[in-house]
Amino acid sequence: MIVGRFAPTPSGALHFGSLIAALGSFISAKSKGGKWLVRIEDIDKARTIKGADSEILRQLEACALFWDGEIVYQSRRIETYREAIASLGDLVYPCYCSRSDLEPFGGIHPQKCPAKNGEKSAALRLRVGDLPIGFNDKLCGYFEQNLRKEVGDFALFNALGEPTYHLAVTIDDQFSGVTQVVRGRDLLDSTPRQIYLQRLLNFRSIEYAHLPLALGADGQKLSKQNLAEPIDKSNAAQTLIKALNFLGYNPPRSLCEQTPIEIINWTLKEKS
Ligand code: GLU
Repeated sequence: MIVGRFAPTPSGALHFGSLIAALGSFISAKSKGGKWLVRIEDIDKARTIKGADSEILRQLEACALFWDGEIVYQSRRIETYREAIASLGDLVYPCYCSRSDLEPFGGIHPQKCPAKNGEKSAALRLRVGDLPIGFNDKLCGYFEQNLRKEVGDFALFNALGEPTYHLAVTIDDQFSGVTQVVRGRDLLDSTPRQIYLQRLLNFRSIEYAHLPLALGADGQKLSKQNLAEPIDKSNAAQTLIKALNFLGYNPPRSLCEQTPIEIINWTLKEKS
């Protein structure tokens, strides 16, 4: 069975860009009789805004995007992330480098720390190989990266002791039985790192589809940082129609008069 998911960071309410990822992943799983899970990615304390998680959930409900099972909160799973990397042995090493220490290397860690062990606490970094890691994206086609040359050894825990996005997302997708990831194209070049971790940890492989990004009038990706407008719960039907058009479904005019539930039901039938 297909298991898809939507994994918002609660750094603000849902906006049109994040609705596209929610709707795209929902349709892809639910139109094939699969499950659709929601996970709140609240490990980055600096970005997490109190109350944004419940607002996102209310907005999803207003759009008739009802999830299956329990919501997973990453902040409650820190120990799991720590335990999961025990098996990686000396592929994981403490690192004291700051961003500016890595500047002379184009931001790519040279595998031997340029920074000395200081008073500050260490991040935990994962050694990567000098081999391409590629996959067939359902929408973008074949994509590969040589992690050694293009990304460098990357952090699994930061110096504050917080797990990083790449670690948490990889462990949670496995933990929740996710088989399919549909998300924004801005995360396409994160995927080889996640596949590398999956392989090291003997996890299942996942099917990926990276959706086009919704852009604002300024041509920039819509994001909470550039203050994209939150989805208006009282106007969800119209927003859904706009999102379906963006995703290329061409909903009929008559659907514009319908409720979010009816719009979603039409879409699932159309797509199945
Ligand atoms: N939490 C990430 C975000 O809100 C998405 C992670 C993912 O879908 O893998 O951008």
